Order: sequence, then C-alpha cells, then structure tokens
Amino acid sequence: MSRHFHIATMGCQMNEYDSDHVAQLLQAEDFKPTEDPRGADLILINTCAVREKAEQKAYSLLGRMIGLKKRRSRVLIGMMGCIAQQQGSSLLERFPGLDFVIGTKELETVPRVFENLTKGGGRIVAADLTKLSIFSQSNPGYFKDRIKSFVTIMEGCDNFCSYCIVPYVRGREVSRPPDEIIKEINELVEQGVKEVTLLGQNVNSYRSSENQGKGFSSLLGKLNNIEGLLRIRFTTSHPKDLSDDLIGCFKDIEKLCPHIHLPLQSGSNHVLKSMKRGYTREHYLNLVEKLRRVNPDVAITSDMIVGFPGETESDFDLTLDMVKRIEFDNIYSFKYSDREGTLASGMERKVSLQKRAERLRILQQFQKEITLRKNQELVGQEVEVLVEGKSKKGNELTGRTGSNKVVNFCFNSELLGNLVRVRIKNAYANSLKGELIHGFSISSTGVLDGKWEN
Ligand code: SAM
Ligand code: SF4
Repeated sequence: MSRHFHIATMGCQMNEYDSDHVAQLLQAEDFKPTEDPRGADLILINTCAVREKAEQKAYSLLGRMIGLKKRRSRVLIGMMGCIAQQQGSSLLERFPGLDFVIGTKELETVPRVFENLTKGGGRIVAADLTKLSIFSQSNPGYFKDRIKSFVTIMEGCDNFCSYCIVPYVRGREVSRPPDEIIKEINELVEQGVKEVTLLGQNVNSYRSSENQGKGFSSLLGKLNNIEGLLRIRFTTSHPKDLSDDLIGCFKDIEKLCPHIHLPLQSGSNHVLKSMKRGYTREHYLNLVEKLRRVNPDVAITSDMIVGFPGETESDFDLTLDMVKRIEFDNIYSFKYSDREGTLASGMERKVSLQKRAERLRILQQFQKEITLRKNQELVGQEVEVLVEGKSKKGNELTGRTGSNKVVNFCFNSELLGNLVRVRIKNAYANSLKGELIHGFSISSTGVLDGKWEN
C-alpha cells in the first residue's frame, strides 16, 4: 500500500524551495504527495521564525495537525524549517503529539527519520546548524508541470541586522559551486521550466572559488547561456553590497528580468544605523539613480519595517518621504516584531503595538496609490509576458511581465510557457488586464515565431 505525505509550507521562497526538495526525496522513496493532511501517513510543517505572527500560525497549525491523530493514530508529524532550528527539543516537550524536529540544515534526513520512527524508534531532533546542507539531488519529472522554479544559490547570512533571526536559524553564508547550480537549472529546463529565481539572503555575497569579487555577476553571465531558459530573476540584494558590476547586469545580461528587490527597511538614517543595515538613505537613493540610469524600465520593490525600537514620528515621515521620492513599484511592509536573541529585542524605547499598526496602515495606503498609478501608466502599452497558467478565476491566462507585474488575458492554454506580447487594457492595484497582440508570439526558445494563426 502506498504511503502519502503532506507538507504545509510557511514563510519565504527558501522554505518553498526546501519543501520541494524534501518532497522529491520522499517521492524517490515511493511516497505520494497529498493535499489533504487527513489522508497522510507523514505530515510536515515547514516553518518561518521571522516574525511572531508566523510563529504563532505555525503552532496553531501544528495543534490542528496533532488533533488529526485522534482519528489516524499512525500518522507521523514533523516540524522543520526555522522554528524547528530555533526551538529544537523544546518543541517535543511542548507538543507531546509531535514526533520529530528537523532543523534547516538536516532536511535530507526526513526519509530516514520516518523509517526509524515507523520501526518503533523514539522521537527525534536533528538540528545541527554546522552541517553543510544544500541539496544536490533533483528528481526527474518533479517540475514537469512548472514554468518557473526557485533555485537556492547560497544559504545563511553573515549580516546580523539587529532585528533579524535569520543568521541564527540559517547559519553562516555558504555559496553553492556554479557547476552545481548550472546542472540543477539544466535539469529544470529539461523538465519544462522557463524561468528561475535565484535565492540567497544577500546574492551580492555569492562567492565561487574561481571568481572572487565578481562571483554573482559572473554566475549570471553563465546562466544567461543556458539554452531554453528564458528568464532569470534573483532575490535578495542587500543595498550595502549592491555593486556597479551587478547594476550593469541589468543592461548586459539579456535574460535577467528588469526587476530588483532591494529592501530599504527604513528611510531614517538613525533607524538604519540602529538596525545595523550598513547604508544611509543617501546611499540608497544613489543606487536607485544608478539602476534607473542603466535601465530606465527596471522595477524596484522593497521591504520596509515600521515601529522599530526608537522610531519617532519624524523617522517614520522619512520612510514615507523615501517611498514618495523613489516611487517603488511595490513594497512588502511589516510591523517590527521582537525576535528573542536578536540585538533589537533587548533595545529600549519600543514603539507601542497600536502605533506600529497605525504606521503600517498609513504606509500601505501610501504605497497602494503609487502602485496603482504606476500600473495605470502601463495602460495602452505593449508588454512581454511569460504565460504561467490559468488566472485565479480560471477563465483567463495569467503571467508576469519582466518587471514582475501580474497580467491576465483571454486565450487558450496552448500558450503555456511561452513569451507573448500583450497590450494592457486595464490596471488594478495588484494586477493588469490585457489583450494578446495577434500577429506575434515568441516561442519557448525565446525566438519570435512570426504570424500568430488565430
Ligand atoms: N535578506 C533579506 C534582506 O536583507 O533584506 C531579507 C530577509 S527577511 C527573511 C525578509 C524581510 O522580513 C526583511 O527584509 C524584513 O523587512 C522583514 N523582517 C525581518 N525581521 C523582522 C522583524 N523582526 N520584524 C519585522 N520584520 C522583519
Ligand atoms: Fe536578515 Fe539582514 Fe541577513 Fe537579510 S541581511 S537575512 S535582514 S540579517
């Protein structure tokens, strides 16, 4: 009888990448995936520890999953990811129904841990942060229905921003060798993937032994040569390390999408200093100017934290000022959340929860208007879209522009995985609506196909 697994993934793209790889390992051991945890023999929760809200969500999901054991007593439940790494064995004490805990560097042990437990072994914690973990195995066919995929190129972080838990739960920076990355992307392309997003907490720190100093831009140059790969994206680049070399890639690397996610966090120099970000607002403005000079169409998105300890009304106004000056295409904004063990959690002059909520609301409304206005500027323009699948409502196709904006348009599904040209008809805050330009499509090899017969 076949065994089923269910993985619930919370948090960032890195967790999605990790879950995919654990799923591949399990499928290689004849497990089958299931969307329904009630039918699973193994339930995994891949957790995020970046903010308290994510942590609470993970515990409440775990509680619900443990509740399923009343009806299906042989199901095994494991917690993996950042909370698992941070809390380790204390999770087993707190949740008697939890069977095992796997830290961020030991994900490859999941199938073995399962076998061990089914043979009657005791509850397990595997959370050694010193292990070298990046996956090297890919399961042929796993990505066969996917147009895009994440690829982790480096793990960990050495920056220790004062608010952030990541360096404590993901360890020090480790880069993957370029050959391994190229091999993985070639395998993905063989399975039909057309776009990859390279993942790292700070891709500017990517180092390969062969090319110190220019590691990341040199990697981009190599990936640009992969036949059948249409688009390359990356996230995240830290403003303190964004080099002229990488900025130049937005002009020189043909397959690199014109979009950069460049987290600013705050517009106030005093707050940036206390966050230990290592740059000033002036430096950031200079980067934006350089990026736009190299490629005027480059979309810039950012992360912002409001209510950091000691943030005054005038600090917050400086954040709004940066948002107004730069006109980001979009931002992800968060209320500061205390993370135990970080420098900021011990800081005085905490901003009240009410103030944090109020500032977040103001900032999000401010940005929403900018995003909508920028989207409206695209009405009437022709954009290139990589067709990814059916829209949420199911009656249209959906894809993204190189600048990462969602575009929905009507057509049949034969265009999946193709780059097409679409004229924008309507703009909303979160998406654009367009019309396929009849006459041209660009084939999956990226070459203009000529007449569109329809
Ligand atoms: N490495 C990326 C960088 O340096 O920008 C970001 C990684 S972090 C997982 C994603 C975002 O979560 C950060 O950019 C920050 O805005 C937010 N974040 C991290 N720690 C936070 C905290 N304690 N409270 C609120 N937001 C936080
Ligand atoms: Fe966290 Fe800063 Fe590292 Fe980003 S660069 S993961 S915010 S410590």
